[in-house]
Amino acid sequence: MIPRPSELFRHELCPGWWLVPQSPQEDSPEAAEGKKLHRAMAALVEKKPLEPLDDEQMAAVKWAWDEVQPLMVEGSECLAEMKMHGKDGSSGTIDLVVLCHDCLHLIDYKFGRADQGDVAGHLQLHQYGIYACDRWNTHVTLHLIQPRLRSHSRILAGQNVLENARAQIAGIVAKSQNATIDDLNPGSPQCDYCPGKVNCPRLSKELAVLPANAPKIATAEEMTSHMELAAIAEKWAKAVKSEAKRRLMQGEEVPGYTLASRKSSKIESIGAAYAKLKETLSREDLLLCCSISLPKIVEAVAKSKDISNAKARREVESTLGEIIVEEVSKVIKRA
Ligand code: SF4
Repeated sequence: MIPRPSELFRHELCPGWWLVPQSPQEDSPEAAEGKKLHRAMAALVEKKPLEPLDDEQMAAVKWAWDEVQPLMVEGSECLAEMKMHGKDGSSGTIDLVVLCHDCLHLIDYKFGRADQGDVAGHLQLHQYGIYACDRWNTHVTLHLIQPRLRSHSRILAGQNVLENARAQIAGIVAKSQNATIDDLNPGSPQCDYCPGKVNCPRLSKELAVLPANAPKIATAEEMTSHMELAAIAEKWAKAVKSEAKRRLMQGEEVPGYTLASRKSSKIESIGAAYAKLKETLSREDLLLCCSISLPKIVEAVAKSKDISNAKARREVESTLGEIIVEEVSKVIKRA
């Protein structure tokens, strides 16, 4: 077992995780978006055109770009998506390496909304720092950029810092290599994207825990621990459904379940629908059957006036004014 830098945290928190059979993983919408935004950052470095992004995604990319640009001083070499290897046989891809005359910046973007904490405790970035130090033998500054949180945490990782990290990582890897199934340790974040969720005996056991005593109102502390389990349970249920679908699609049996087709229909062109229905429905009656998308209006106005989406949004909001209804709902979030 050679740990990948991005999985070090899981080796630390659940040392035996790699012993659990893993299911093939499909990209979640969040992972697909993360890849898209990473491609946008690489395109900016390489001066290539960007894929279309919505306003919020563009704002996140712009924020990250404004943070890294000052590091790219004249004469520096900027390498996006650089694959690096360690002496231990491990490897990882660094989002951006900026090589200056007498220093080196290693940048990692995290486009999710969950806080990844401070760079000082970030094992993945420290592993990259070790790769870089072994290769270039120069001062390394590690940068953890979380655009959705407007956070840029950095640390000058000198020899001492990296040697400490090297020892810490070696300890984690040794413990993980000697781990058994008894060392599984369910919790967040280690279970969140773990590919072993479906087959994990400890997680299933944890999820099967139901109140054993007579019915009672859960205490405040129990509600907190129920909420923590609920977050993992949702991810577990999603992973189980996705694995069952994958098996059925491959012709494997999941007793009691089968694949069914669900039909849904939609009208592709409102104009064509009106042309066919105009003897029966007035244009106004047809419009009453249509829903309208604010982001699509913004995009259309931006295209027709050749202005940015942000400017188009301001114009549309000012023109439509009070007929834009804002819906506010309550959601639970971690305090
Ligand atoms: S699902 Fe959680 S407890 Fe099970 S192996 Fe993965 S990280 Fe460990």
